[in-house]
Amino acid sequence: MYDNYLKFIVFLNNKLDKYFEAQSPYIFCKRGCSKCCQSGEYPFSKIELDFLMIGFYQLSGEIQNQIAEKISKIKEEKTKSKSSPFMYECPFLINNECSVYKYRGIICRTFGLISSLDDEVPKIPFCAYEGLNYSNVLDPETNIISEEKFKLLNTDKMPLVYNVSYKFLTSEVVEKDFDFKFGEKRPLIDWF
Ligand code: SF4
Repeated sequence: MYDNYLKFIVFLNNKLDKYFEAQSPYIFCKRGCSKCCQSGEYPFSKIELDFLMIGFYQLSGEIQNQIAEKISKIKEEKTKSKSSPFMYECPFLINNECSVYKYRGIICRTFGLISSLDDEVPKIPFCAYEGLNYSNVLDPETNIISEEKFKLLNTDKMPLVYNVSYKFLTSEVVEKDFDFKFGEKRPLIDWF
């Protein structure tokens, strides 16, 4: 079953590499930028969690302890919080980098692209409003991609919307095509 999940991850990575390449004029992701990991719910299925933990057990004891401490703190904050959804910094983020990068979840791999949602409304990455991805083509007043700004960039790479919603990427279609089950899904912190 794991083998098939890994086959899916390889397939997904290949697809996403092509998407990011096709969107390169609009992508400002760079090493050390961890905005996507600083506030979120991070949905993880059971199989993703098990894969993430393979990465965790390869870390040094010191880093494992740091992550364990962060998890305890977040869980404590969640107990006291009245916010729903409860947003938090991912406990696996260490020194602004993902400590389990190769083993990260599916949603983590799609951070930064414009994705389609179930209701077909494209979801523009939040960092577009902070001068990062797609900020060079976003009209912040209308929240849509500006054709004028696109033309000014003089590129033949169009800003595109991809079907990379978490719901789709962890759907029965994928389970059937790759012959494995994602299992239960929860916000990452609720697995601990
Ligand atoms: S697992 Fe890694 S990439 Fe995913 S949210 Fe956490 S720190 Fe970010």
